[in-house]
Amino acid sequence: MTTKLLQNCGKCGLCLSVCPVYKILKEEQASPRAKLQLIKAYDNNILASSDLLKEIVSKCLMCGSCAANCPSGINHYSKFMEMRKKMVGAQGETPAIKSLIYLLGREYRLKFGAGLARTGQKIVPDSFAKTFKLGNIPLKNFPKLNSIPFRKANDEIILPYKKQIGTVIYFTGCATNYLYDDTGFAFIEILKHMGYKIIIPKDQACCSIPLLFHGAADKALKNITTNINALKNHDADRILVDCSTCGEALKNEYPRMIENQGQDPSHANKIAPKVMDALSFIDQNIDRLEFDSNFTDKLSVTYHAPCHTRNSFGSHIIAEKLLSKLPFINYKRALDVDECCGGGGTFFYEYPEISKKMVDKKIENAKAVQASLWLTDCPVCRMNIAGNLDMDDRLQVLHPLTLIHSALKQI
Ligand code: SF4
Ligand code: SF4
Repeated sequence: MTTKLLQNCGKCGLCLSVCPVYKILKEEQASPRAKLQLIKAYDNNILASSDLLKEIVSKCLMCGSCAANCPSGINHYSKFMEMRKKMVGAQGETPAIKSLIYLLGREYRLKFGAGLARTGQKIVPDSFAKTFKLGNIPLKNFPKLNSIPFRKANDEIILPYKKQIGTVIYFTGCATNYLYDDTGFAFIEILKHMGYKIIIPKDQACCSIPLLFHGAADKALKNITTNINALKNHDADRILVDCSTCGEALKNEYPRMIENQGQDPSHANKIAPKVMDALSFIDQNIDRLEFDSNFTDKLSVTYHAPCHTRNSFGSHIIAEKLLSKLPFINYKRALDVDECCGGGGTFFYEYPEISKKMVDKKIENAKAVQASLWLTDCPVCRMNIAGNLDMDDRLQVLHPLTLIHSALKQI
């Protein structure tokens, strides 16, 4: 496999031109093609494991831009995940990442951890919250955790306001469940207005992408099986996600992971083609929504296209078109709308200097179009962008679903 991988790489350098890390560091060793060469050398026992090798391989946002643009069809993504697993096995993991993996590995642990973190948010002194940072983000800039997990706050089955035209499953992911329930409540309302019955399976777990990205494939498998079981038992037209990283997991990684385990991938294969991102679904059903005609002043809005929306779904173009045609929006396209913001799961925490350069440039370009709202359909991008804004930047960051819901005509 590795030999074939190397043969396929024509060293054209296209992956360098789209790699956000390379664009900042401008060092060959930070490039996707160099990572591939190092992986090959390691697999062929030419290169030994070391902290430096682990760092070079890990200095990557797992954005998927290299794979999406490689003319030789190399799947960097899966090679990087395999290599990260080997590196964690050989070099170990930091305590912070180990703790995160532990929490995400089981839903009850995550629920407990979210509860603890929420209590911590209430009692931590302001002075500490202003000065203590995770990566570049002061604690005070992190969103308040949901008072009740989103799935607990909602019934498993929700009926539409009008005549039912179909059924959808809503895969909420961890972020909506524990962090950004405004996104979830808005999506439910939008779907009810459209006429869809909504199923929110209670027994969902983390999509497992963070575990896979940190080389914890073994721990990810338990969650993957839980999610496949939760989704396969419901009959629905579509499985909707409000986070394209969850979508990437359900659509592309689950079938591959299950097959790699030598298990029957038929359920994962049936689930994958039903997965759709929220904005594409709204775009297809836009005629079913009625907007409040009192919304006379158009809101000036800009957008950040998350990497997985772009590289896994290719739906960033649909998202921008949708925002441009909504009657209450004056869409202002930022110069670097589809550049990575530097959030990248835990990248913002592990490599704050690189991440800061990326997000500062995004902020500069968003401010240049003089929008008042900045929309993005990825919770980590939202957290990273909002966390790095200053009060005087006068930009509010939201998921597009929240804004669309707020403009709906009341039923
Ligand atoms: S884009 Fe693909 S073929 Fe070109 S250098 Fe990168 S990995 Fe190699
Ligand atoms: S996944 Fe993104 S950050 Fe990582 S090497 Fe590829 S383009 Fe660069």
